[in-house]
Amino acid sequence: VLEATDVRKSFGKLDVLKGISLTLMKGESVCIMGPSGGGKSTFLRSINCLEMIDTGTIRVCGEEMGYRTTATGRRQLSERAIAVQRRQTGMVFQQFNLFFTMTALDNVASGLVHVYGVNREDAREQAYEQLKLVGIADKAESYPIQLSGGQQQRVAIARAIAVKPKLMLFDEPTSALDPEMVQEVLDVIFNLRKAGMTMILVTHEVGFAKKAADRVMLIADGVVAEQASPQRFFENPQSERTQQFLSRVL
Ligand code: ATP
Ligand code: MG
Repeated sequence: VLEATDVRKSFGKLDVLKGISLTLMKGESVCIMGPSGGGKSTFLRSINCLEMIDTGTIRVCGEEMGYRTTATGRRQLSERAIAVQRRQTGMVFQQFNLFFTMTALDNVASGLVHVYGVNREDAREQAYEQLKLVGIADKAESYPIQLSGGQQQRVAIARAIAVKPKLMLFDEPTSALDPEMVQEVLDVIFNLRKAGMTMILVTHEVGFAKKAADRVMLIADGVVAEQASPQRFFENPQSERTQQFLSRVL
């Protein structure tokens, strides 16, 4: 589903990604951890072209994201072509990014209407099914401001999965939540994973990474410091950088 090879990205003089590679097969889930500023969000944003990478390639379902490479070089795709590519991935952010003037149901339905041209009635029906999946169908007519943080984040997840992405990207989806709401969101993500969704999750939830990840990866200073099974990552990390990181979070 994902093949990222030697991805590099700078902001001016700051080298943020210095050669990151990651391959994900269908149904796999990878957790990314690492210190603040290490490049985790930038890597995730690069996958769906919210950032354009400088060198390296990112393929989602076999298609190179953001660029067309030919014998004569590589050329950035048009905004429109990138928007089409972006439909393959769904992204959920730390801040829920809901539309505040729309109900939960319309938040989920809007992507179906505007991106896929589904008619409004069908979209609302499909959206309702998604809200059921994340356990808040009873809040369909509520506005974001009437929902708890955990409920808002579940709406955001429902909205992302409604368009049937091949790859889900979660960037610290529980970091902005009160502790008592973290679990309900993690449960939704875990159910998605059990249903076979391919996903990358940036998180500091160690317990969840142990339970839900096929692999755990540490990104620090723009490089992959470690990539291993959860057991090996947490119990027997090979790199000094990982040992140092874990000594602070465990
Ligand atoms: P955190 O755990 O705090 O979310 P992170 O690992 O997600 O950190 P990034 O957000 O990817 O880190 O940021 C990596 C570096 O890139 C940081 O030094 C950040 O200041 C810088 N950076 C990110 N986006 C931009 C931008 N648009 N312009 C300039 N610098 C940026
Ligand atoms: Mg980040």
